Order: sequence, then structure tokens, then C-alpha cells
Amino acid sequence: MTGIVIVGSGLGGYSLAREIRRLDRTVALTVVTADGGESYSKPMLSAAFAQGKDIAALIQKDADTMAAELDIQVLRRTRVVAIDRAAKVLRLADGGVVGYGRLVLALGADPRPYRVEGSEAVAVRTVNDLDDYALWRAGLVAGGRVLLIGAGLIGMEFANDLAIAGQRVSVVDPSPWPLGRLLPRQLGEELATALTGIGIDLHLGRSVARLAQGRATLDDGSEVAFDTILSAIGLVPRIALAAAAGLAVDKGIVVDRALRSSDPDIFAIGDCAQTEAGPLPFVAPLMAEAKALAATLAGGGATLKLPALPVVVKTPALPVAVCPPAAGAAGEWRIEGVGHDRKALYIGADGIPLGFALTGAATAERQALAKEMPDLL
Ligand SMILES: Cc1cc2nc3c(=O)[nH]c(=O)nc-3n(C[C@H](O)[C@H](O)[C@H](O)COP(=O)(O)OP(=O)(O)OC[C@H]3O[C@@H](n4cnc5c(N)ncnc54)[C@H](O)[C@@H]3O)c2cc1C
Repeated sequence: MTGIVIVGSGLGGYSLAREIRRLDRTVALTVVTADGGESYSKPMLSAAFAQGKDIAALIQKDADTMAAELDIQVLRRTRVVAIDRAAKVLRLADGGVVGYGRLVLALGADPRPYRVEGSEAVAVRTVNDLDDYALWRAGLVAGGRVLLIGAGLIGMEFANDLAIAGQRVSVVDPSPWPLGRLLPRQLGEELATALTGIGIDLHLGRSVARLAQGRATLDDGSEVAFDTILSAIGLVPRIALAAAAGLAVDKGIVVDRALRSSDPDIFAIGDCAQTEAGPLPFVAPLMAEAKALAATLAGGGATLKLPALPVVVKTPALPVAVCPPAAGAAGEWRIEGVGHDRKALYIGADGIPLGFALTGAATAERQALAKEMPDLL
């Protein structure tokens, strides 16, 4: 039988390849990837300046090294354009085909498109992989003005990192405080104070009404000048290939507890997948998924189990850790602490904590608190 083919060489694709090789040294394993196939840690993209890293330093291993180390084939700069499930082949953009016995989709997600009046005439950048990051960094001018759209997790990390690098950063977001979906107001306001303290200009409760070359007009009529503009308004799981092949999709590619899609020979992990706990676009769930799926592919019957997994937000101006309650869970925030060091527990109707948010010194409690939270799966 043809071997295992993984589409995608991000943390999902390569973590899975590594886990499979721990269990099976001989199965034929191919990684097909639209990018350069370098192994890198995506979370570092929003912390690279603070750690003094350029593009070369972000690349941990190139595609050839990965191929040799894992005894796999890596087809780099090779885009899959269709999955032919009847013939069990992938159709490639260059007209070629790759056969598979079992297929794993580790396709990641696309940055949500940002459109306002005038945006088509301005180079609005997004950063979701090494290629994007290289392009973005090449366009930065020393001491330049960066307009950042979006005060969510990735936006705030970039804002803090760029400010450390000496960029003059302005942030625009309709939410009244940063990380508006993850933090209760008091903690969000502490974060806003800390970010303002390192020179970041926050325009919260505001949207961009119009963009022109070097100038944004906000919905209150005020103007923000910029040299470069970065949008960080969220990610959308890549489902188009799976949907066109007739696989079940929703927000992501729908998978069961074995990471299996609606086709028994096709699996999905990472940012493109939708588990029973919903899409989980973070590293810790992806690692657990890779381990469980490798065991399944090697012949065991592993079921994905996920404890509550805290996420550290890389904002050195004020350290933040969050463990969000399940979407739509009823409850209320209870907040302890003063100033920068706050602990907020999200308490459900029956008095049981369902999630938390921590700032400053309180972030040290994240692992202990996570043990008290309900499992994700
Ligand atoms: C700036 C930033 C900071 C982050 N920080 C954190 C953090 O601190 N902690 C945390 O837990 N998470 C963080 N995350 C999220 C985490 O990095 C992602 O959840 C994870 O890296 C996703 O990995 P993936 O393999 O699913 O997707 P990706 O890394 O996006 O990989 C997708 C792969 O699929 C390939 N591909 C897509 N379509 C095709 C096609 N048609 N044909 C061939 N190949 C294709 C791509 O080329 C790529 O190789 C961060 C994300 C970003 C953007």
C-alpha cells in the first residue's frame, strides 16, 4: 500500500512526522508543503525582535535536514490543488500527482482578510508564516510608524515586540480593552496601561473608516499616520481543499477523537482541524493531536484527550496567561489582586471554575490552576 502523506510542514505536519517515526521507522512518509519546508517555531514570529532573532535565526532546520533526520520525503514549494479520494491521489499545482494510502491534512489557517475603504490601494500585511514574516520585516524602516489592526492575542504580541524594536506603534480595535475576548475589563485595562507605558498608542473602541497611503482615518474622524500597516484580526482554518473533496467541514475540517475526518483514510490536525472541542489553534493541543494521531496511524487505537491548556501571551510589558472558558459557557468573572498582579477566575453557574486569566506575578499560578479546570476533551 502507498504510505502516509502529510500536507503541511508547520508545527502540525512536522510534529506528526516526528511522532510517527518514534513508533515506526519504516513506513513511507511524505510531507507535501506549499512553503519552503523549513522547521521553525511559529510562536517566535511575534517575539523575534525581543529575542534579537532575524529570519536566519528563526529557521531551526531546512527541508533537506528534516528529510534526512526523519527519513521522509519533503516536497517543498509544492501546492496541493485537489484531493481525488476515489483515486487516492493529490493533484498538484504543477500538474503532478502524489498517491497516498492514508492522508493527513495539516494545512493551517489563513489570516482573515481585512477590507475597509481604500485598503486595496495600501499594502496591508499579515504575518502567519516565515515567508510573510520575511516580507514584513524587509518593509520596516528604523524607528518607523506601524499601524496595527487588531488588539487580540497575536496583535498585542506584535505590538509589544515592535515597540521593543524601536517602532512607533499605534493599535486600532473596536474592543474597549486589549485581548477583549480573553480578559475581563480590569485585567484588560492593566494591560492597556502597561502597553501605553512602553509607548504604544492605543485607539480602543475605534475602527478604521478609511485608509489612504500613509494615513488612516478612524471612525471618530481622528487620523493616524503610518509607514507600514499590519493586520492581525484573526485566522480562518483552511477548509477549501477538504470541502471540495466532499469531506465534512464546519469552522474547520471536522474530525473525531481519532483525528479522523468523514473519510476513514483522511485525517486532520492543527489549525485546520475542528475537534469535538472546536478549533484549537494553539501549540499544546496540536502536540497532543500529533501524538494521538501517530499512535492511530501506527496501528494502535488512540483517542485524543486534552486537559485544560493555559496559553501564555508574549507581552513582556505585562505578562498574561489565559485559559478561556468554553465558548458560550455561562458564568461570571471573580477578580482578586491589585495593580498589575491580578487573578480572574471565570465561575460557572454551579460555582465551579471554568477558566481563568492572570496578569503579572499571578501568571506563575497558571499550571496549578489549569489542573482545577475542566478538561477540553
Ligand atoms: C504570530 C503567531 C504567534 C503565535 N504564538 C503562539 C503561542 O505563543 N502559543 C501557542 O500555543 N500558539 C501560538 N500561535 C499559534 C500556533 O503557532 C499555531 O496554532 C500552529 O503553529 C499551527 O500549526 P499548523 O501546522 O496547524 O499550521 P501552519 O504552521 O500554518 O502550517 C500549515 C502548512 O500547510 C501548508 N499548506 C497549506 N495549504 C497547502 C496546500 N494547498 N498545499 C500544500 N501545502 C499547504 C503550508 O505551506 C504550511 O506548511 C501563534 C500563531 C502566530 C501566527
